[in-house]
Amino acid sequence: MVALDLRDLAKYPFLKEAQSYISNQTSSLDVFLASSTGQKAIEEALDTITRSLYFNPRQPPEVLMPVPSESSAVSRIISSYPVSRILVSCSGDRTFIERLCRFQAWKVFNYLQEEEPEKKEIIARSLGLSGSSTKIPVIQYIEIVAKLREEKWRLVNRCIERGIVTIHLDEIDEILRERLRVVMYQNLPIRVPPEVCTLLEPYLEKVQKVFQERMLEEFGSVEESAFPPCMQAIIGILIRRAHLTHMGRFAVTAFLHNIGMDNTRIVEIYGQVPNFDLTKTMYQVDHISGRGGSGTEYTSPLCSTMKTHALCVHRDALCDKVIHPLTYYKKKKWMIESGKKKSATNAKPEKENCPVKEDESSSPSGGDIANKIPATADNGDKHQ
Ligand code: SF4
Repeated sequence: MVALDLRDLAKYPFLKEAQSYISNQTSSLDVFLASSTGQKAIEEALDTITRSLYFNPRQPPEVLMPVPSESSAVSRIISSYPVSRILVSCSGDRTFIERLCRFQAWKVFNYLQEEEPEKKEIIARSLGLSGSSTKIPVIQYIEIVAKLREEKWRLVNRCIERGIVTIHLDEIDEILRERLRVVMYQNLPIRVPPEVCTLLEPYLEKVQKVFQERMLEEFGSVEESAFPPCMQAIIGILIRRAHLTHMGRFAVTAFLHNIGMDNTRIVEIYGQVPNFDLTKTMYQVDHISGRGGSGTEYTSPLCSTMKTHALCVHRDALCDKVIHPLTYYKKKKWMIESGKKKSATNAKPEKENCPVKEDESSSPSGGDIANKIPATADNGDKHQ
């Protein structure tokens, strides 16, 4: 039978062989983290987490860095795997956990593409699958493909016989990747002694900053005048303290979270809702944003879903070009920003004492929500 070497463990650090290797290197976790080897492992883990935050599965990097040949570098990579799990566990943030699992699974998928069949079989068996069989029990299949959006993974497009789903040979690696992602995700967060989390706090702060930067890069600062008409309308309902359906609350919360608004600010907006309950609202917002125990970071619904729930209102011309309120937001924000840049470039010297007409001062989108959303949730009428 083929044996795994150290470089294999660096490629597949989730294997129990990798864990035994690390256990043999050190007596205890805090001693290891304080050592120079531990410090290097922390740096490597931070690098992996950072890359996981920047990783986009729709546009993955073209090449994956090969595993180095020097033994010290290989050893550092193997040790960094549990450290990265410890770091995301200490963060208590499901987004970090989800991104890390997705990135690690993608790396493994890349290595598997060129792996020897015998080694691939070892990896597959460690995940409770086979590296060559195209038959998967339907229950297991559903769990594995739950997050895959392509039509081909839908059960209606599969051949199922006696509870067994058939996949194609060239889909095995994708199934292994997804299975790994699911298993890794299910096994996180791990319980970490509080003193270890305290020790790692300064490192975690670095990652949190990177994450915030990432969100800002993706969506920029929150530009409320770029909100799509549906979201403006929903927020209007919240502000007027009128009744909002569960779906409406979900859609706006997920939307605000997706564009990078922090949870405290979202809760503040909810401060206007009749019968506002701070604890319950915080729980719901944390749940939707994936920071609570739910384990899933939700995305706001598609325009078609909004329409089904009678939430697609006040459509405008831009709505015809999008299928998702987030795309509307990105496009509108870009239009606003490029309009600002253009007018700054073309700006003529200001006329002295030129009066501003009243109707020129209002936003073309019809809603400067920034001025309408109160700054704090400290509302005397709220019920807690
Ligand atoms: S088309 Fe989409 S973005 Fe426009 S109002 Fe409807 S749901 Fe919102």
